[in-house]
Amino acid sequence: MASQVTFIGAGNMASAIFGGMIDNGYPATAITATSPDAERLTALAAERGIHTTDDNAAAVAEADVVVLAVKPQIMREVCEGLRDAVQARRPLIVSVAAGLTAETLDTWLGGDLAVVRCMPNTPSLVGAGASGLYANARVSDAQRELATTLLEAVGIVEWVDDEALLEAVTAVSGSGPAYFFLVFEALEEAGVRLGLPAATARRLALQTGLGAATMAQRSEHDPAQLRRNVMSPGGTTERAIHSLEDGGLRELFADATEACAARAREMA
Ligand code: NAP
Repeated sequence: MASQVTFIGAGNMASAIFGGMIDNGYPATAITATSPDAERLTALAAERGIHTTDDNAAAVAEADVVVLAVKPQIMREVCEGLRDAVQARRPLIVSVAAGLTAETLDTWLGGDLAVVRCMPNTPSLVGAGASGLYANARVSDAQRELATTLLEAVGIVEWVDDEALLEAVTAVSGSGPAYFFLVFEALEEAGVRLGLPAATARRLALQTGLGAATMAQRSEHDPAQLRRNVMSPGGTTERAIHSLEDGGLRELFADATEACAARAREMA
């Protein structure tokens, strides 16, 4: 029988995950979502066939997994309200909240719990996410598999064995979509400077990013080899790549990700 999964909060991230689970064949009847917004709950129950309630503690009473998907600012209050129900049931806790450590969440929930902390990213909302996951010592192998199933519903999953590495995950994939948006902006602007209509430049830039990522994911070669494959000596691509390398692109990414990870450390 499918594990009972309760989502505390039914916003963007929660609905992306349970939507993906249902689309992948997970039974909607094994999913419960909570929210203070009665209209949203009625709509979700009708559209997706999941159980809904505005009573967080009641929703935990029969849960095998509790996914904490409210904003970090209200997490403490929400966890403290769940403490008695969680301690009575002792489900796996999965948090998608940015910046809150497994130990902090465990303390707010009364302690001694199996906690998985996850750093998803915004492409999860379109099923193309990349999530980094960390499990504390109380998480069993079966619970790890369950957490993988949940997050794989919205993209790929990579486990890290040291919670501090979630800062590196934040720097690469958590904040990463914005780096690519910036590259798309820059490529569109460059195309316009070279005479293309903006809409044409944008479509070409976005499709090229998508195509390069798809090709790199499917290829047996690493990205460096794929790059060399399109850089014929003396050709156009070689000229462009030398210009990017001479301009310090690699150092810029090293600096940007270091700054991002440092900020994640400050916020934890
Ligand atoms: P969101 O769309 O605002 O969802 C949060 C939901 O929680 C809202 O529907 C909100 O309802 C509900 N809520 C508020 N108080 C509640 C309570 N006491 N009990 C139960 N539900 C309550 O936010 P989100 O973007 O999904 O983010 C949720 C978490 O995911 C955050 O911790 C964030 O750090 C993490 N995250 C999100 C993304 C992303 O791409 N969106 C990426 C990485 C991490 P009302 O609107 O009615 O208040």
